[in-house]
Amino acid sequence: MKIFCVGRNYAEHAKELGNAVPDEPIIFSKPPTALLKDGAPFYLPDFSEDIHHEAEIVLRVAKNGKHIEPKFAHKYFDHLTIGIDFTARDLQSKLKAKGHPWEIAKGFDGSAPVGQFVALNTLPPVNNIEFTLLKNGEPVQKGNTANLLFSFDVLIAYISKFFTLQQGDLIFTGTPQGVGRVHIGDHLEGYIGDHKLLDCKIL
Ligand code: ZN
Repeated sequence: MKIFCVGRNYAEHAKELGNAVPDEPIIFSKPPTALLKDGAPFYLPDFSEDIHHEAEIVLRVAKNGKHIEPKFAHKYFDHLTIGIDFTARDLQSKLKAKGHPWEIAKGFDGSAPVGQFVALNTLPPVNNIEFTLLKNGEPVQKGNTANLLFSFDVLIAYISKFFTLQQGDLIFTGTPQGVGRVHIGDHLEGYIGDHKLLDCKIL
């Protein structure tokens, strides 16, 4: 199982971190040991003083494919959920400044919690999915897939040029604005529409 992530896929988030809007998708990956499922808690690692939540829609790949054309891409995912791309922002900033890969700032153990997956046919159209992250009961991130810079179909086509997509692979599709630091004791809850799908305590 592979975990792909997309950087800067919402213009307002690129802006809040002072980044330019990309002209091609920015793809990175996390190892399978990053995955956190079934409401498992996230333990703050000791190598960072600034772990940020990035709430994102996560696609689950339904079948194997390579060089998928955008017009067929919708056949390659049939479930999605909300997940968090936890990021050690302090490490990432240092690595970015040196032009180094940011793997350790993004792919560490437990950095990819995912909620319960739901079938696409129970959801609004994929280009109009609202999602919300609550921190300690207060909304901190709100997104709508209508604002994606690169649509799910474009992402699937782009990623599959370089990597064979396999059934069960996950794609974190980028975070909207409102990213911020988490602390011990925080409680994160992720919603798609009115449905709570993700629960993650910070320990
Ligand atoms: Zn992200």
